[in-house]
Amino acid sequence: MSFAEVIGHQKQLANLHSALTGERLHHAYLFLGPEGVGKRTIAVAYAKALHCLQQVNDFCDQCANCARISDGNHPDVRVLEPLAEKKEISIQQIRELERDLNFRSFTGKRKIAIIDPATLMNSSAQNALLKTLEEPPQESLIILIAANAGALLPTLRSRCLRLSFAPLPRREVAAYLCSKHGKAAEDAEFLAAMSMGSIGVAVNLDKDDLTEKRRVWTGILSSLKAGDYQSAMAAAEALADNRDEVLRFLKWAESWYRDLLIYSITNESDDLVNLDMRPQVEQQAAEMSLEGIRSAIVRTVDAGAGIQRNLNRRMVLEKFLFGAVRER
Ligand SMILES: [Zn+2]
Repeated sequence: MSFAEVIGHQKQLANLHSALTGERLHHAYLFLGPEGVGKRTIAVAYAKALHCLQQVNDFCDQCANCARISDGNHPDVRVLEPLAEKKEISIQQIRELERDLNFRSFTGKRKIAIIDPATLMNSSAQNALLKTLEEPPQESLIILIAANAGALLPTLRSRCLRLSFAPLPRREVAAYLCSKHGKAAEDAEFLAAMSMGSIGVAVNLDKDDLTEKRRVWTGILSSLKAGDYQSAMAAAEALADNRDEVLRFLKWAESWYRDLLIYSITNESDDLVNLDMRPQVEQQAAEMSLEGIRSAIVRTVDAGAGIQRNLNRRMVLEKFLFGAVRER
């Protein structure tokens, strides 16, 4: 398989490819970009390219090494994430990783660690990793994956070569949904728009479920009245139950406010995510100031980052919704 078959991100792949062929590989990379746009897929593909026994195109995806990397049991390639039932990547995990990276490679090739999401390393884990990056073990490669660099120590970030991954164009996501998941063109278009450029998100969306949820969510945002903190608290409590659902709500809210901003400025609806809800977008856009919409976007992104860091869900949602009440 070649990197060219990966969807999107061809510039980033070309960069990695040239490092591969020119032997100018860095010791540490930071892959930065929204959830589900392919950062981990590319990190794993890169590990395969470095270890593939066949080296057909970039990697064959079939040899023993490629297969073991796919299955997550190659001795020289580790993916580090929080242990089951844990919210964070701990300092113990990083210390084990460092020991492991200092052992000689089983295959004579690079030892690779993919840390995903790197933002779930607590501060002592990040400090421990920083020490490792200051004196990287020979022939090691560490790839940090993050949606948001803000939760990483600046000193850690500065030790990594940063590659930014943008959301994928809507048509690429839609084409993928049609060709790989057999979606009808109209559904694919809807799901691609709602995914905001993320294949990982798009394949897990269910159109009917999403349509219903969105009805509830828009109801919440449009029913918030000036000074009515009581309703905002009740809404926060109702929403806070499930972490994944909160993240979906906030992701959607981001798309919603983004739509309001685009519509307020351009009066055009072609690029709206919630394209099928144009009348509601038009109405809400008329009710909010540009400044209010901008700060709503900032609050939404902050709230999403808070949930990612496992802050108390109800408190994060209250802060987010109280902001909306204040701006009424
Ligand atoms: Zn292979």
